[in-house]
Amino acid sequence: DDNLYSVLETGFAQDRGTVAIETPERTYSWADIDAISGRIANLLSSYRIPHGSRVAVQVEKSPEALMLYLATLRAGLVYLPLNTAYREGEISYFLQDAEPAVVVCASSAESWCKSLAQSCGTLHVLTLDADGSGSLMQAANDQSPEFKTVPCAANDLATILYTSGTTGRSKGAMLSHGNLTSNAQTLHQYWGWRSDDVLLHILPIFHVHGLFVAANGALLAGAKMIWLPKLDAEQALHYLPRCTVMMGVPTHYVRLLSEAGFTKAVCGQMRLFVSGSAPLLADTFLEFQHRIGMPILERYGMSETVMLTSNPYDPAQGERLPGTVGRALPGVSVRVTDDQDQAIDIGLPGHVQVRGPNVFSGYWRMPEKTREEFTADGWFRTGDIGMLGGQGIPADYLSIVGRSKDLIISGGFNVYPKEIELLIDKAPGVQESAVIGVPHPDFGEAVMAVVVPRPGTPPDLSALQASLKSSLANFKVPKKIVIIDALPRNTMGKVQKNALRQDFADTFT
Ligand code: ATP
Ligand code: MG
Repeated sequence: DDNLYSVLETGFAQDRGTVAIETPERTYSWADIDAISGRIANLLSSYRIPHGSRVAVQVEKSPEALMLYLATLRAGLVYLPLNTAYREGEISYFLQDAEPAVVVCASSAESWCKSLAQSCGTLHVLTLDADGSGSLMQAANDQSPEFKTVPCAANDLATILYTSGTTGRSKGAMLSHGNLTSNAQTLHQYWGWRSDDVLLHILPIFHVHGLFVAANGALLAGAKMIWLPKLDAEQALHYLPRCTVMMGVPTHYVRLLSEAGFTKAVCGQMRLFVSGSAPLLADTFLEFQHRIGMPILERYGMSETVMLTSNPYDPAQGERLPGTVGRALPGVSVRVTDDQDQAIDIGLPGHVQVRGPNVFSGYWRMPEKTREEFTADGWFRTGDIGMLGGQGIPADYLSIVGRSKDLIISGGFNVYPKEIELLIDKAPGVQESAVIGVPHPDFGEAVMAVVVPRPGTPPDLSALQASLKSSLANFKVPKKIVIIDALPRNTMGKVQKNALRQDFADTFT
């Protein structure tokens, strides 16, 4: 049986009485996970919907929401998590696209979900709130806790994970039980997961990072999770002394470092801090290392592939290098190519393409798009621009330079925003920056920069422009630099360059 749940269960089958999940309010044992997911799986099975039907879920994070994920796997159905930030109009797109048989939503969304459901072929709408209340658990509690997990083949669909929509409309990535299992097993080994680990779980669980990296990792290891709704610095400082592993997005680490109470002493048991989902600034990496005495481990992945590369865990395997996302994980292949899908030399930026047992089979109901995103020889086009080696970095380390959709073509020249952002970020008074291309009557696109100042010390924009002129080719120098309060970011800390391009579209026209 290749059901992902059956694999995860091997991690926690032994110590059934011990605590698996701790929230500020209560604890759940491994036996509770088995029983509660069993009750929900019985409920889902009682609907007699076909194998492969979708269970769409937009709920606040709670232990019950995790059990619902596990129950869906156990019942042989397809789990479809949705970002809690999405509103009715957005959810309407996802439900029409996925046609789920079951929708689980917050009780506050029940009435509009019910009316949407009618037009999407949805048969059952259930509610689940952050405290575990709602019709889902009410109905599940009448069911037996015993459930025999439905056997699945490695190729069976386990989940449809919609991409974050950073570069355009979200696409549903179809991930199989085999895709998720291979990645969970690889990370288990590579990051040295142990049953006595304690994971500080502060990520949302509608995304690959919180669900398939963090939660699957702890479950497969039989490791306890401290389960918090989000990163609240004070709460994190309270729990960190008991934790050994934390996974976060770069903004989480920036937030922690802004707390005087975030010290080496607080992290006394910690063995691993992982960062991903968005680029970690070298400054954050270095400040963290200086303060905590341990380098953050940055890794790279995406909805379509789960995790692809990681900086080394074991120091004997190599250093964790800031600004890089490390090496291809065991079993994963990474290449950097030109526009003709031919591998290019190390140290040059190009398209990142990948293959491996973790790579998805295609986008849900988008055969055309799926064909476009795989090369003739079977590699997946990640849409990211990257570079292997270069600048004294070992040739098997990957650095992500940006996304191909953010590449600026100004007067026929390619401009990689990251190169300019790194220079701007070093200038006095600059906290962070984003470089974008906006329409320009002469150049097609013009380079422009938006800059977030450090509190209290606004940067001198003309001095900044002059210093960029002295270190960059003219076509790369921003034609305009503007100050803004904060970069627009989504919940995963990703900068929304689409939004910036829209805001500044009329700058030169
Ligand atoms: P969409 O595909 O809908 O535009 P998205 O690509 O942001 O959205 P996700 O699958 O959530 O959706 O994110 C994957 C992307 O996140 C990667 O392609 C990459 O651009 C970025 N990413 C992930 N980890 C890192 C990292 N460590 N450094 C830089 N970028 C990263
Ligand atoms: Mg993407």
